[in-house]
Order: sequence, then structure tokens, then C-alpha cells
Amino acid sequence: MPTQHTTVKRHPERGAYDRATIDSILDEALLCHLGFVTDGRPFVIPTIHARDGDTLYVHGSPGSRMLRTAKEGVDICVTVTLLDGLVLARSVYNHSMNYRSAVVLGRAREVTDRDEKLRAMQRVVEHVLPGRWDDARQPNDGEIKGTTILALPLDEASAKIRSGPPTDDDADLELPVWAGVIPLKIEPSDPIPAAGVGSSPPAYAARYRRLT
Ligand SMILES: Cc1cc2nc3c(=O)[nH]c(=O)nc-3n(C[C@H](O)[C@H](O)[C@H](O)COP(=O)(O)OP(=O)(O)OC[C@H]3O[C@@H](n4cnc5c(N)ncnc54)[C@H](O)[C@@H]3O)c2cc1C
Repeated sequence: MPTQHTTVKRHPERGAYDRATIDSILDEALLCHLGFVTDGRPFVIPTIHARDGDTLYVHGSPGSRMLRTAKEGVDICVTVTLLDGLVLARSVYNHSMNYRSAVVLGRAREVTDRDEKLRAMQRVVEHVLPGRWDDARQPNDGEIKGTTILALPLDEASAKIRSGPPTDDDADLELPVWAGVIPLKIEPSDPIPAAGVGSSPPAYAARYRRLT
């Protein structure tokens, strides 16, 4: 259910609050933007995320101001956006974008349990590149200790989705102006091997796709 702070007000029909919708957006998006206030000023920092059930994880260096601030239990806001298309209307005013976005509000806790940390690291890797965790060297103790991981519960979240053709004013429908949608999606190119790699890329890299 939407809360006072997650209720979509403009185009409320585009708002969604069910976890299946929110989860699908979080899971497809490669990165999020994490907003927080420190020293009386707002900052919004891009970072990788991963969902595991009812928890959203972010990770990084213990020196990261974003993580150092968020782990103090201050209110944070995590936003993800999937851009699906450019919407060209007959009028400039009615141009738009097709998108699926999600906003998660809450307070994060630092993950200190070694098993949960490792599991969260796995989720992050598998979120970005399913199949990679088992192929690459696993994190050693120093790397686990040297990674800060925060867990944000998915208790207060919303999604907003715009899809479909442009919405033109009736008076504009006869204008000789092209209108429609330019679909957009992430389209990987062929993998480029690092120096010293003689083998072909594994299937998950050669045929990388996001979820949809
Ligand atoms: C696609 C992507 C994925 C990332 N994934 C992660 C991740 O998983 N974990 C992680 O810790 N970091 C990640 N980063 C880096 C992250 O955005 C920060 O740069 C990083 O956390 C360093 O924080 P800091 O404490 O040094 O910066 P801060 O001390 O928070 O930043 C100080 C100032 O530096 C500038 N700044 C910091 N980062 C950026 C930036 N990315 N772009 C432009 N200006 C910036 C801003 O002006 C900011 O106010 C990612 C960045 C991108 C673009």
C-alpha cells in the first residue's frame, strides 16, 4: 500500500505499489541512485544495487561517504529508472518518455554477518551478470571485511510506469507531424577480451541481455 510519502500524485493511474511490479523494475535496472542528506545538503549518488527477497542491498568501499552516512540510519531514498522509449507527440508539449521507475524509502542497516555479506555480494554480482559468481574467484576474508554492505527493507516503495503511444490533444491529431514511439533498450555489443585472455567469452557474456 502507498504511504504518505510514496503516493504518486501526478498521473496516479501510472502508480503501482505491488511488490511484483516493484521487484521486476529493481531486478532489471543495472544501477540505482541513492539520495541522502549530510551536513544539511542533499546528495544523490549512482551505485549498484541488488534485491534479495524483501531486502535491497548496496555495497562499496568502507570509505564511501554515501555508505558511511547511510549506515548511520538516516533516511535515504533509492531510485531506479528503466527508459523504454521516446514518445513523440504532434505537439512539443505532449512529448514524453516511456519508463518504468521505482522509488524506495527507508533506513538501511549495515550487514555485519559474514554469511549475509557473502550472500549479498553474490546477489550483487548475479544481479548484474547472472552466471558470473560461480565462474570468478570468490571474495577472500580481506575483501569481505573491506566491503561495506547496507540492507534496505522494501517496506516503503512505489513504482511508476508510462507506456504506449503519445497522448495528443484532439485539435492536434490532423497536424502533418510524425508521432509515435522510438523504443529504447540496452543492447550489448560483442565482449572485448582483456589482455592475456585466450578463450571465448562464456555464454552469459557472449549473449548478455537484461531481463526483458
Ligand atoms: C554505474 C555506476 C556504478 C557504481 N557502483 C558503485 C557501487 O556499487 N558501490 C560504490 O561504492 N560506488 C559505486 N559507484 C561510484 C559512486 O557513484 C561513488 O563515486 C562512490 O561511492 C565514491 O563515493 P565517495 O564517498 O568517494 O564520494 P562522495 O564523497 O560521496 O562524493 C563527493 C563528491 O564527489 C562527486 N562524485 C562522487 N561520485 C560521483 C559520481 N559517480 N559521478 C559524479 N560525481 C561524483 C560528487 O560531487 C560528490 O558530492 C558507481 C558509479 C557508477 C556511475
